[in-house]
Amino acid sequence: MRLFQTAAISAIFFLLSCTTAHSTSDFPDTEAIDATPDATDSAWLNDASIVQLSTIATETAANGWSEPVSFQVAQGTTALQIQFTAPAGHVLQLAELSGPDGPVVPGDWLKVGDQPWLYLAGQERVRATPWQAAFLVPNAPQIAVPPGLWQLRAFTFDYDTATQLRQPVATALDVRIDLVRKPAFVTGTVDLNFCLTGARGITAETAPNHPRVQDALQVVAQAWNPVGVKVGAVRYFDVPAKTLSVTHDDGDDAELADLLRLAAGQPPGIPVFLFESVDLDTGSGLIPAAGYTAGLPGPLVVGGPRTGIALALKYDQPDILGVVLAHELGHFLGLYHVVEAHAQGDKATEDRLTDTAPTPENLMYYAPDPAHLQVTPQQAAVVLGGPWVRP
Ligand SMILES: [Zn+2]
Repeated sequence: MRLFQTAAISAIFFLLSCTTAHSTSDFPDTEAIDATPDATDSAWLNDASIVQLSTIATETAANGWSEPVSFQVAQGTTALQIQFTAPAGHVLQLAELSGPDGPVVPGDWLKVGDQPWLYLAGQERVRATPWQAAFLVPNAPQIAVPPGLWQLRAFTFDYDTATQLRQPVATALDVRIDLVRKPAFVTGTVDLNFCLTGARGITAETAPNHPRVQDALQVVAQAWNPVGVKVGAVRYFDVPAKTLSVTHDDGDDAELADLLRLAAGQPPGIPVFLFESVDLDTGSGLIPAAGYTAGLPGPLVVGGPRTGIALALKYDQPDILGVVLAHELGHFLGLYHVVEAHAQGDKATEDRLTDTAPTPENLMYYAPDPAHLQVTPQQAAVVLGGPWVRP
């Protein structure tokens, strides 16, 4: 999700002037390893808490819609992660999803969609993504995942940044579904793979002792440890990026996709790329950003074109790397903003969690503030219930 548009950055800098030094008491354990994947690290992705169904090959027609795809959800399943993958950079959306109890994502929303990329009006929210798109169900506590026959339909399009319209497109796509089983899951661990471009001199060799990286990890711990989400392994990799900066665009986003693929071969962990700058090209000019998460949630594929977080290092006076990383991790693990920037006061753009308020106190406010790192129990439940958090 985009954040830190120009006005928001000014606000952040102002608010930062009254923050205090970070505590070191809950510093996460870290380990530095070289770029050699360790097979023993990958066991959790094949953990008994995740069952991957057979991949289903399907296609969409010229009107963008696929035929219905049916699948069985086993007894005891507590969450689903649905992933679409297409060979070209078409935008992939979960247009319709229904379970034994009825619709979870109603198919008619596309006719009156909130935004070209987002469906925010229902209980379950979905964001379209090019190349590879993932959807975590549930992302609000009101949504049940009953066992039985489920059905989905995909919608695929190309995005015209000039007209800001969806252009339906026919494409082949693969549907992957992971069934997650985490009854009464109250704590969990995420592993991070820092992917280092060399920006600001931060490399796999210097990062384990680099104050900006280690301070950022402290802020992540301050935000997430109180609700039971801990950072486990922290690994550092040099990646052969051709540039120290990246531009995310609202089209096929090919530049960012190519960079994120550089994480291929790493052990399971959330790729966190550090760049000099991250710019968003939304069709109305370049907007500087402090961070961007390519997948909401992150697809369960290490080295995939939408698996990763991009952070800008240029905001160092004061340093906001930590709060941006903590916020983007929330997106990667399935959280939406408590309210979106484009429609303040519109209840439809507030999240569907009953214990959050649409105010800056929350970490997932659209413009996160280092002085406010609140994560609520319902936000934690969404994150802990997903496939990226291991027991
Ligand atoms: Zn955000």
